[in-house]
Amino acid sequence: MTKKVRVRFAPSPTGPLHIGGVRTALFNYLYAKKHKGDFILRIEDTDQNRYVEGAEQYIIEALNWCNIPYDEGPGKDGGYGPYRQSERKELYQKYADSLIEKGHAYYAFDTNENLDFHRKDHEEKGKTFIYNYHNRLKLSNSLSLSPEETKAKLQAGEEYVIRFKTPQDSELHLTDLIRGDIKIDTNTLDDKVLFKSDGMPTYHLANIVDDHLMDITHVIRGEEWLPSLALHQQLYDAFGWEAPKFAHLPLIMKPVGKGKLSKRDGEKMGFPVFPLTWNDSIGYREAGYFPEAVTNFLALLGWNPGTEQEIFSLEELISTFSLERVNKSGARFDPDKTKWYNQHYMQIQDNTVLANAFMLHMNTKGITLPNDKNNAEFVKLVVDLIKERATFVKDFWELGNYFFLAPSEYDEKAVKKQWKEDTASIMGQLVSHLEGLDDFGSQNLETQVKQWITENELSFGKVMPPLRLVIVGEMKGPHIFDIMALIGKTDSINRIKTALSLL
Ligand code: GLU
Repeated sequence: MTKKVRVRFAPSPTGPLHIGGVRTALFNYLYAKKHKGDFILRIEDTDQNRYVEGAEQYIIEALNWCNIPYDEGPGKDGGYGPYRQSERKELYQKYADSLIEKGHAYYAFDTNENLDFHRKDHEEKGKTFIYNYHNRLKLSNSLSLSPEETKAKLQAGEEYVIRFKTPQDSELHLTDLIRGDIKIDTNTLDDKVLFKSDGMPTYHLANIVDDHLMDITHVIRGEEWLPSLALHQQLYDAFGWEAPKFAHLPLIMKPVGKGKLSKRDGEKMGFPVFPLTWNDSIGYREAGYFPEAVTNFLALLGWNPGTEQEIFSLEELISTFSLERVNKSGARFDPDKTKWYNQHYMQIQDNTVLANAFMLHMNTKGITLPNDKNNAEFVKLVVDLIKERATFVKDFWELGNYFFLAPSEYDEKAVKKQWKEDTASIMGQLVSHLEGLDDFGSQNLETQVKQWITENELSFGKVMPPLRLVIVGEMKGPHIFDIMALIGKTDSINRIKTALSLL
């Protein structure tokens, strides 16, 4: 029987989740759902110095907003809890001890000053200090000291760490589902710290113990963890546990230039790098992105479907996603493309939802819509006419303010071009004609006005552009008869009359 797929997203609550972290969570989620498995959230908070208040809440809220909620994690026990490492503290010591017993780990008593001294000393000689077979016996640890000396130090309560004993002269064969086979010479590795005398495990130990205890089958994480893979594989071997499969996702790169995407790139170029706002940094949610757009563009950062398809619903992503199609090389972040996605998802949003979001937006902007137009019914009809050109809900005002307010001025260039000697008289006649119309629906309006133009042997060019100018204030907007029908007969006629008095 094959094991149920269980994957985890294991952030450290050291601040807001970067968009790259959301991508890692998303790929885990997609993989889990595709294989009818579980997606677990584990909070790796063993480093109390880096703990940031509110970060865990932020992570959970971000996952929920993206519609990629976890199946198991804080507040959702699936029988493998607790899911915060700080609440699992007692658990790790015995695993560290067992490694010492088996000879895979040892106590080290070196002070920071002493280690710094060796580092500097090596540097001066143009070498790099590695704590491993090379130096171990020259340093202060249970391999260099006698058992009695070690015992005495431990009993005296001296500070210590437990280090992994990396084997000498051997070649490790590692496998990554994305990168294939990787060979590592163990002599290049240092004896990483697994446990500290403050009773806390380091990331490495806690991570491996928890992945094992939580029955994790696949570790999908960012490329920055690839250098840890050698140690992790060795830990599984040392414990005698079957290791999960590993997949290291490519980095997300800057829009221009070299290196990975950073908060600064976002600040410089004006795009969010966080899913939700955090202090002064605006999030995708607050910037007006739809979560569907965010998950869609993130999915294509490093994964390719093998076709030209770019638009994927979450369901489609689940069915098409595979780790085999994740690229090895870094994925360049393209802020324009994120907007393109949002513009697309704008078109398929429910207009009532958009209308309400717009009214809320206006409210927070402190702009009051005229009473008779300050209702979702009316706004919804406006949204329907203008959203084609909108990327964000906040664009609606710029694109459609004339639906709510009559123009108070007219685009100068357009006036010069469209307002001819006979325009005023034509518009005057048009007003009389409009006044006689009972059915002000868009279609009838169009038929009637066009008929009137033909009957009066006028040209369309003499009527339509100035008509748009006086209704809208400039030469933009959707179908003019749709606009007039929506603002209504009285308003339409008043706008023409106002223009006649002003122009
Ligand atoms: N706590 C690590 C992080 O912050 C987890 C790395 C992993 O997934 O193993 O990303």
